[in-house]
Amino acid sequence: MMTKEINQENEGDGSHGPQKPALGLTGRKIIYDKDGKPCRACNTLLDFKMATGAKPKVSGTFPGFSTAYAKDEPPDVEQLGRSTWTFLHSVAASYPEEASISQQEDMKSFLNIFGKIYPCWFCAKDFTKYIGENQPKVKTQEDFGRWLCDAHNSVNKKLGKPQFDCNLWKKRWKDGWDEEEN
Ligand SMILES: Cc1cc2nc3c(=O)[nH]c(=O)nc-3n(C[C@H](O)[C@H](O)[C@H](O)COP(=O)(O)OP(=O)(O)OC[C@H]3O[C@@H](n4cnc5c(N)ncnc54)[C@H](O)[C@@H]3O)c2cc1C
Repeated sequence: MMTKEINQENEGDGSHGPQKPALGLTGRKIIYDKDGKPCRACNTLLDFKMATGAKPKVSGTFPGFSTAYAKDEPPDVEQLGRSTWTFLHSVAASYPEEASISQQEDMKSFLNIFGKIYPCWFCAKDFTKYIGENQPKVKTQEDFGRWLCDAHNSVNKKLGKPQFDCNLWKKRWKDGWDEEEN
């Protein structure tokens, strides 16, 4: 569970008037974008809705409008994070066992660009700082899988979540667990 102790920088305009709450219902700081609006990808859905004053939607279908898709909400910081880690670890699981120089360069470029475009801007800022201090290891699949696991663990630590045993990264993201481990 997220608590007030989680130290997440708020780099909005810093002037939270009465209409711009500093804390959300979860106890986390509300993160604002540079334009002063609550950042959807940086907050939980609950906090985002509180900060925008959005009223709960009444579910149901519109007359004369039929769709096969559920009306899912855009992702909040947790759903976006979960999906992105799934993508990143899956990329590591399919990375070449021995990467060529050009494949290594591609992966480094990807990580640098990722740090510029990840929608949760304060997550991206910390991730970019992490990359600066811990150069990505991209020579082999094992190197990259473990580096990514460590990077994920640094976020887990920041959020007060348990550390993942990086000896198990390949079971979680590539090979699957042995029968007796399930
Ligand atoms: C680059 C990045 C930076 C982020 N920064 C922030 C932030 O600053 N603040 C914030 O609130 N949220 C941040 N997030 C989101 C956050 O990391 C979580 O994704 C989110 O809180 C949901 O957590 P979860 O408990 O569902 O599991 P997640 O952390 O999303 O993990 C998904 C699954 O990955 C596995 N796993 C866990 N740890 C590891 C590991 N070390 N190696 C391999 N597999 C692992 C587990 O099976 C877990 O169920 C970030 C996400 C990303 C991708």
